Amino acid sequence: MNDEYSFETLAIHAGQPADPTTGAVMTPIYQTTTYRQEGVGRHKGYDYSRTANPTRAALEACLAKLEAGRGALAFASGMAAIDAVLRLLKPGDHVLAVNDLYGGTYRLFESVYAKFGLAFTYASAEDPPAFLSNVRPETRLIWLESPTNPMLSLCDIGVIARTAHAADPQLRVCVDNTFATPYLQRPLTLGADLVVHSTTKYLGGHSDVVGGAVIADDADLVERLAFLQNAAGAVPGPMDCFLVLRGIKTLPVRMDRHAANAEQIAAFLAGHPGVISVRYPGLPSHPQSDLARKQMRNNGGMLSFIPRGGPKKAKLVVEGTKLFSLAESLGAVESLIEMPAEMTHASTAGTPLTIDPALIRVSVGLEGIADLIADLDAALSSD
Ligand SMILES: *Cc1c(COP(=O)(O)O)cnc(C)c1O
Repeated sequence: MNDEYSFETLAIHAGQPADPTTGAVMTPIYQTTTYRQEGVGRHKGYDYSRTANPTRAALEACLAKLEAGRGALAFASGMAAIDAVLRLLKPGDHVLAVNDLYGGTYRLFESVYAKFGLAFTYASAEDPPAFLSNVRPETRLIWLESPTNPMLSLCDIGVIARTAHAADPQLRVCVDNTFATPYLQRPLTLGADLVVHSTTKYLGGHSDVVGGAVIADDADLVERLAFLQNAAGAVPGPMDCFLVLRGIKTLPVRMDRHAANAEQIAAFLAGHPGVISVRYPGLPSHPQSDLARKQMRNNGGMLSFIPRGGPKKAKLVVEGTKLFSLAESLGAVESLIEMPAEMTHASTAGTPLTIDPALIRVSVGLEGIADLIADLDAALSSD
């Protein structure tokens, strides 16, 4: 596929030529585990579907193009993708991670990999020199999210990657790009070594499939990740790959509308007397709105806020909306609302990563903006 094509064109076509046997325009769901060989070891590139499957291969080729990487590996979930990156390390290695990160990632680091001899440090990445002062001689991986979940903090991916590589060329920088998607920012082009996604979120986009992916540009990294994907086996099925591929086709138009709706909801909340504070990269009050303009195409569809009245009021708000569904997850066509401290980020309770118990996180969907604002307004005025 021509690299000069726009993101919108690649999202629809990359990795997905018409099916050579039938001309089918949509990539077929190759629901098969194995492949007939013409002779021993003589086959068309597929011998067993844990190792490779044509529907998965199409998704991986598409994701590699969208993230400007040499290769992508698809996984059964975002956590399985993150797990594969951690398996690149060995006991004794140290990981420096941004301190506001997805609760499941924190749980995997602390409750699984800490037992296997990896050490983790968490720090704010808003100020790159202060963040990188935590790098040790045994640090092998830097783990970033931008925007973070649920505080919507940003970090300068380019500055952190350049500084880290100048200090130690062996140091790998991995960005969880789930919130931004490659449509808003492409970490590999900014200098990162690895990108992970929960394709469950914006890439799938319709709350109907769980999946994950890792993308890298370095050939050696791609090969090691492909080895781990096959060796550990947390692969997605062909139906799931098909659903993610289909979702990706509309990613650009969805992300534009998610952001347009989120801009208006952020402004509405910021002006509401029942709201103490709003976190959205597009608001002038966001401390890194300049970095958002520099690093992201738009400000995305996620925001969080703290209502007046503490956790009790916050609970009334999230239980009071009619259009916004009270649910975990994010990034799909329908609007969702939740309380991170008790839901998505419950695993950080009692740790230094504890979330304000009154914080409400919103995944702004694609419904009519007037309906969404009226729904939030009614929930905020209830008591
Ligand atoms: C959801 C999510 C994950 C985990 O992905 P699953 O598909 O649920 O396993 C990781 N990182 C971020 C930022 C997420 O939102």
